[in-house]
Amino acid sequence: MAIKNIVVIGGGPAGLEASAQLHYMGYNVFLIEKNDKLGGHLGKWDRLFPQGIQSEELLNPLIKNTAGVKTFVNTEVVNINKLEKQYNIILSNGITILARAVLFATGFDLFPASKKEEYGYGIYDKVITNADLEIFFRTKSDSRIVNPLKIGFVHCVGSRDEKTGNRQCSKVCCATAVKQACEIKEVFPNAEVICFYMDLRMFGRKYEDLYLTAQKKYGVRFIRGRVSEVGENINHQLIVKAEDTLSSKPLKVTLDLLVLMCGMNNSSEGIKTASLIGLKADEDGFFETLNPMQGSIFSHKKGVFYAGAATGPKTLPETINEGRAAAICINNYIKEEINE
Ligand code: SF4
Repeated sequence: MAIKNIVVIGGGPAGLEASAQLHYMGYNVFLIEKNDKLGGHLGKWDRLFPQGIQSEELLNPLIKNTAGVKTFVNTEVVNINKLEKQYNIILSNGITILARAVLFATGFDLFPASKKEEYGYGIYDKVITNADLEIFFRTKSDSRIVNPLKIGFVHCVGSRDEKTGNRQCSKVCCATAVKQACEIKEVFPNAEVICFYMDLRMFGRKYEDLYLTAQKKYGVRFIRGRVSEVGENINHQLIVKAEDTLSSKPLKVTLDLLVLMCGMNNSSEGIKTASLIGLKADEDGFFETLNPMQGSIFSHKKGVFYAGAATGPKTLPETINEGRAAAICINNYIKEEINE
């Protein structure tokens, strides 16, 4: 019965948690994932801050709990039509679903590092991203990372940056940089590691402990300053220019590896899908919500909800909590509609 059908778009942590909760409540949940695997970015990450648990420890139970949910991978939503009290959703696999509610858990895209040309991603071999480094931690194999002796991390890549059109903070990349700085010291104990930051936003519970561990246990250096330019010398080492904004002195350092902490943008695929029913992104690129002071779950369309990073950068616990909260809001919405 269509009244029991709910479509969840996006199989990352928010979509998985919402799908599992809605299934427990007795709904027919259809989970649509465009990639060939569930898990979103979480499935590509190695360990998670602040405790350093393996991503699988979080992801595997989330996936296991969706047993009973009708899941389509490698599938996209190609059209959504609003009917009187439901939505007609057409999938790229030819299936059509009549759903009482739709949840956008479409997540985020990492900022494309090559857009910041001055940092040299895609130009210099030894410039990599936070996502590349996670793959290295998982596989211990990357031809660009061969016993580096001096490693830099650049914070705020594509965030807090007028030039890229994103003035907002991506919230999680300071903690990710500190985590990765510790981890790379575990792999290369003799390496010198420097973080170039604008402000350190270690706001969450136990994040400060992680920062202190990075300094005291691993000897990571933190330099307040923005990198302005990256070049290469004849030995294929990186020449990084920055300004130390605490001492107001220009800096030039030679590095063997530079890691760019790319921030979060709204998912371009999510924006495309939401536009099918006239939902728009705000000036910061994330979806507009009905009343931001009441949380970010309600969209401007009746029966359409959000969860996770589609409405702004979020930590993993926040994302999972929001998936759970979205399930409750959808259940309340359907119950109220039935009683009308
Ligand atoms: S969390 Fe840190 S690195 Fe990320 S955008 Fe905010 S200040 Fe920059």
